[in-house]
Amino acid sequence: MNKPLPSDPTIFSKIIDKEIPADIVHEDDLCLAFKDIMPCAPVHLLVIPKKPIPRLCDATEADKALLGHLNLVANKVAADAGIGEAFRLVVNNGADACQSVFHLHYHVIGDRQLQWPPG
Ligand code: AMP
Repeated sequence: MNKPLPSDPTIFSKIIDKEIPADIVHEDDLCLAFKDIMPCAPVHLLVIPKKPIPRLCDATEADKALLGHLNLVANKVAADAGIGEAFRLVVNNGADACQSVFHLHYHVIGDRQLQWPPG
C-alpha cells in the first residue's frame, strides 16, 4: 500500500542547493554523488538526480536517459573509489523497503565482502 509522501524539500534537495554540506565526490548538470553520512561499508556513496523524483517508481519514460546516466555515474564513482569491479547498487523504493529519504537515490556500496540475500 502506498504511504503519503512528504511534500517538504528533502535533505537531499538541501544538499543539491548547498544549504547543508556533504562530502561530494561527483557533480554534473544532472546529478550529484556524495558519501553516505552513516556508511554501512568502507565505501558507501549515494548518487542522486538533481530532479526531485521521490521514488524510483515515480520515474517515467521522460526520465529514461537520466536513469541511464545515474547508472553510469554509479560506475564512475565506484571506479574512482577503487571498487569498480565489485560493488552493490541498491535502490530502496518506498517505506516498506526502508526508503527514508524521498528523493530517488542509488546506494553504491562496497570494499567489503557483501552478503546475499539482503534483509
Ligand atoms: P534510504 O534509507 O534508502 O532512504 O537511504 C537514505 C540514506 O541517506 C541513508 O543511508 C542515510 O545514512 C543517508 N543520509 C541521510 N542524511 C544524509 C546526509 N545529510 N548526508 C549524507 N547521507 C545522508
